[in-house]
Amino acid sequence: MIRLTNIHKSYGSRQALAGLTLTVAPGELFAFLGPNGAGKSTTIGLLTGLASLDSGQALIDGLDIQKEPLKAKRLCGLVTQYPNLDAELTVGENLDIHGRLFGLSKKERQQRKEEFLSYVEMSDRENCLVKTLSGGLKRRLMLARALTHKPKVLFLDEPTVGLDPAIRRRVWALIKKINQDQVTIFLTTHYIEEAEFLASRVGFINEGRLARTGAPQAIMESLGHWAVDVYGQAGLKSRYFQDRNQATDYLREQPLGGAIRRVNLEDAFLTLTGRKVD
Ligand code: ADP
Ligand code: MG
Repeated sequence: MIRLTNIHKSYGSRQALAGLTLTVAPGELFAFLGPNGAGKSTTIGLLTGLASLDSGQALIDGLDIQKEPLKAKRLCGLVTQYPNLDAELTVGENLDIHGRLFGLSKKERQQRKEEFLSYVEMSDRENCLVKTLSGGLKRRLMLARALTHKPKVLFLDEPTVGLDPAIRRRVWALIKKINQDQVTIFLTTHYIEEAEFLASRVGFINEGRLARTGAPQAIMESLGHWAVDVYGQAGLKSRYFQDRNQATDYLREQPLGGAIRRVNLEDAFLTLTGRKVD
C-alpha cells in the first residue's frame, strides 16, 4: 500500500530524512516509532502532499505521489498531530466542508456525516461548536473527518498525544476498529506502549533513517525475554537474557543490586539506536 524508496528531505541545512526506505502492506497497522525530531511527521507530510520530497520515490497503492498527486491524495486520510478543525463551526459543518473538498454530492455528504459520526459515537454532537469539544472528542471528530472520503490508507500523526490515559484507550480501540474495517493504518508515535498495543508491525526511525522493522513481539524476542537493570557508577545499565534463571544469576552478582523485568520495545530501540524514544 505504501512503498518508499531512498527518500531524502532537507529543510535548509537540516536533513530530516536521509534515505528512508520502507514498505507497508495492505491492511497493516504500522507504527512508526522514534524520538522527537526523528522525521516521523516529515514522512507523513510527504506522503499526504503537505510537503515535497527532494529525491527518492513514494508510491501509494502503486501511484507515484510526485506524478499523480491528486489521485494519490484521494487514497489517503490524514489526522495531523495538532487539531486543525474549524473551531468556530459545528461538528457537522466541519465534516460537510471536508466532503465538499473531496467532491462529494450533498446526498453523499449527508449520508457519510451520519455514518461516520455514528462510527466515532458522536451522533449526538452534530450541532455542537467544535470549540466546545474536549481534546478526546476533537480527536474522534478528526478521525471521522479523515474517513469521510473513504481512504484506503489512514495516516495518524501522534494520534493520542496530550490525551489522558482513559481517553487514549478509547482512541486506541477506535483505531483498531478502523483497521479491522480494512483501512491500512500508518501511525507515528513516540509512546512505546502505543506501538506495542496497536501495531502489527513497527518501524524504528532514528535521524531520518529506518533502524529496524518487524512485529513488536519478534523484535523484543530477538533481544531476550528478561531485562536486568543494574545501578552502577555510570548510571543505569540494562542487560538482556533469554532465560529467567540466567537473569537472576546475573542480578545476584551485582554489588549495588538492580531490578529484573520483562523486555519491552524501548529496550530494542535503545539497543539499535543508542537513543531513548521519549
Ligand atoms: P518528528 O515528527 O519525528 O518529531 P519531524 O519530521 O517533525 O520529526 O522533524 C524532523 C527534523 O526536521 C527535525 O530536526 C525538525 O526540526 C526538522 N523540521 C521539520 N519540519 C521543519 C520545517 N518546516 N522547517 C525546518 N525544519 C523542519
Ligand atoms: Mg512529529
